[in-house]
Amino acid sequence: MTPSGAGLAGYQGQPGSFGARAAARCGKPVAFPTFERTLRALLAGEIACAVLPAVNRVDGPILESLDALARSLAEPEAAIAVEAEIEVPVRLVLAGPEGLALERVREIHSQAAVLRQCRNLLARLDAIPIDTHDTAYAAFRVKETGGPRAAVCSEEAALEAGLLILEEDVSDVRPNTTRFWRLARAGEAAAPAPEGDVAPEGPAPRVVFYAGVKTSLALADAGAELLSLPGTPGDPIRGFAVVPEKSVARAAAGTGRPAGGERVIWLGPAPEFVRPPRVRDIPKTTEVREPSVVAVGPFVVGGGRRAVIAGPCAVESPEQVARLARAVARAGATALRGGVFKPRTSPYSFQGHGLEALGWLKDAGDAVGLPIVTEVMAPAQVVPVAERADVLQIGARNCQNYDLLREAGRSSRPVFLKRGFGTTVEEWLSSAEYLLDAGSKDVILCERGIRTFEKATRGTLDLGGLLVARSLTHLPLFADPSHAAGRRDLVPGLARAAWGAGVDGLMIEVHDAPESALSDGPQALLPEDLEELLDEFGILPGVSGSVERIRRAIDVVDGGIARLAAQRLELARRVGAVKRAASRPIRDEAREATVRARFAEALGGDTPAATRLADTLIDLALEAEKPGDT
Ligand code: PEP
Ligand code: MN
Repeated sequence: MTPSGAGLAGYQGQPGSFGARAAARCGKPVAFPTFERTLRALLAGEIACAVLPAVNRVDGPILESLDALARSLAEPEAAIAVEAEIEVPVRLVLAGPEGLALERVREIHSQAAVLRQCRNLLARLDAIPIDTHDTAYAAFRVKETGGPRAAVCSEEAALEAGLLILEEDVSDVRPNTTRFWRLARAGEAAAPAPEGDVAPEGPAPRVVFYAGVKTSLALADAGAELLSLPGTPGDPIRGFAVVPEKSVARAAAGTGRPAGGERVIWLGPAPEFVRPPRVRDIPKTTEVREPSVVAVGPFVVGGGRRAVIAGPCAVESPEQVARLARAVARAGATALRGGVFKPRTSPYSFQGHGLEALGWLKDAGDAVGLPIVTEVMAPAQVVPVAERADVLQIGARNCQNYDLLREAGRSSRPVFLKRGFGTTVEEWLSSAEYLLDAGSKDVILCERGIRTFEKATRGTLDLGGLLVARSLTHLPLFADPSHAAGRRDLVPGLARAAWGAGVDGLMIEVHDAPESALSDGPQALLPEDLEELLDEFGILPGVSGSVERIRRAIDVVDGGIARLAAQRLELARRVGAVKRAASRPIRDEAREATVRARFAEALGGDTPAATRLADTLIDLALEAEKPGDT
């Protein structure tokens, strides 16, 4: 066998498919009509590797491709190794032939699993779902047949097929990803993959093919992710297990002597990768669903709604908290924070004024119409605090206090759970699981800086960890730049970084006399610093602010509109030039409808303001797209 296929990565499907995208990450993509054909090409040395979809985040195991892999492994000659796992984000568009308006779409063509993810779209358009073999093929079919037909596929597939995009991001479940496996001939993999018996030597294998019931039980016991295939009554149950690295030895021991007729094949060496959290153990927190929204009066976060919780570290006196409540409401915060039970490193430091201060905090919040957030440190505090507090905070030091988590989860109040400074993302999400499991409906997570070797800041704001959490959980995510920085001057920068990373909200400590604050004075922003920061983020000031205060916010917005309008027209000029070069018509009605829809969405429907703004912008853009307008 001469490996003439060096550098070639085979996949099933068409150019523009998600498989093609995964294959492009492994070599020069080569398309095959079926999974079987792709695997045969691999074994025959026509390609260096084959890229097969294994698991979709929403749909689970991809039976068709896993079944083909299982069947090919059942052949005595086949020796295949899994070399790597490639995760591809699945973003779907609705695409149709030129001239087809969105409302006229009657049939939507795509792969069955993809159509299941687009129920809202199908219902909205009242269109008939038509099952095709794969998404890219759907795009080509729709282009060929024309009529009132559209396809759900990747943007690349739409462009490859010559379709126009009618609507972007049409899946009901976001974010979605598909995990592909890069397969190689076992002999040529980094380590040989012994077949038929389990004797892993060298780098630990990670993917196991099993056939049989006992084996799958043993693998499940070792913590493996089982990807089952249906099989038939006459056929043994077959499947794949993705074994976490730390359990490889245990899985091997458990499956070392498969029961009669059962088969186990290691599919190759473990790739070097950073182990993601074990989502299986935290099902409620990592459930794939629409983003959770937590709403308490004016405080609404999650699913695109963003907010700021601000206030002093500790409630010091009725006057102090009332003043700061007015200040943060005026700035635009929609919840007031303040500690009445303070977890202090030294038992001699100020410990908080306790339940009496909760009354002061409540009165201050009521006076400005803001819900209040305060920390509970012990299970016994939950019931009395929940009587008056709108949101219960669990602090970093108590992130893994499981009795407290259960008790807080049983209260009817939303819980704001800070990440412990020595807690991994997986442990933090597991703590959230305790709250949800105890019955909590509303949980918010907050990254507040973890402990690293760095001593120049109080903590290290772990934005990477925050983004890992974002990819795993539907719960709203906050960052607390104050406790991460420990220094006022660093708070705005960290707040911007977290905001830019897409947090749902920020918790910020504020004090008007930080020098005499009873706790955390050095990290407190002054009220005017908070106003400036929130204006920058486009958070609207509270209605109780002065005219001057609101005008400052208006000036920031006007500056932004002017800059964006200039940028928009420059982009129109560029797209005009590209269209002319490609001999595409300048006017594109589907595109104009998208622009209008965006304005309507932002301005609450087809209001006169939305229509006039969209008309003006489209006119100006068309003007700018004309030649000579440079
Ligand atoms: C606080 O919010 O004042 C607090 C004590 O925070 P952490 O638990 O993050 O230290
Ligand atoms: Mn504090």
